Amino acid sequence: MFNELGESVRLLVVEDDKDLNRQITTALEEAGYVVDTAHDGEDGHFLGETEPYDAVILDIGLPTMDGISVLENWRRANLKMPVIILTARDRWSDKVAGMDAGADDYVSKPFHMEEVLARVRALLRRSTGHATNEIEVGNLRLDTKAAKVTVDGTLIKLTSHEFRLLAYLVHHKDKVISRTELVEHLYDQDFDRDSNTIEVFVGRLRKKIPSDLIKTVRGLGYCLSTNENEV
Ligand code: CA
Repeated sequence: MFNELGESVRLLVVEDDKDLNRQITTALEEAGYVVDTAHDGEDGHFLGETEPYDAVILDIGLPTMDGISVLENWRRANLKMPVIILTARDRWSDKVAGMDAGADDYVSKPFHMEEVLARVRALLRRSTGHATNEIEVGNLRLDTKAAKVTVDGTLIKLTSHEFRLLAYLVHHKDKVISRTELVEHLYDQDFDRDSNTIEVFVGRLRKKIPSDLIKTVRGLGYCLSTNENEV
């Protein structure tokens, strides 16, 4: 029921090799991520510029626009999402160029899918500012790797949708998150973007965790906070 990794994140895979693209995408989806794909540089660049991704896996050798240019353009546009570049094994100069262009990490081809998954996990931990897999908010503890939530040490049963929603709010503790942002980060492009669905999930979550933890900020969205006066 739970995602293996529990991260409520949206990823982009830009890789022109169709088989490889499918393998990476499948592995990431099986790990519980929401994944979009692009098969050339221009498409990838466009998606990265217009959709809110938590991390991107970017091949260097791409048709229409090479990976280094894609990355340079994103960074020039002040887009800061973590990017892992895929490089050919013997092209050490690609790694250097990629890191100089603003890549956060690289994986050399051929690679084991487990390595890509581990690097994605590590990047996401770093980018959300948490060095461990466990995050505590008041008496609630969320383990993003095991996809477990406990309150006062008691395990809380959540569906994967509920877990992803909670994990996103926990990662953005004390910030007001709009329903639109939640839909964009939690579900893929095909999801029914009716924000009422989010309200239903929030309602269910409130019955399972301390109900005052998720605050409704009228007209704006939700805020997960232990601070009683803030919103
Ligand atoms: Ca390629």
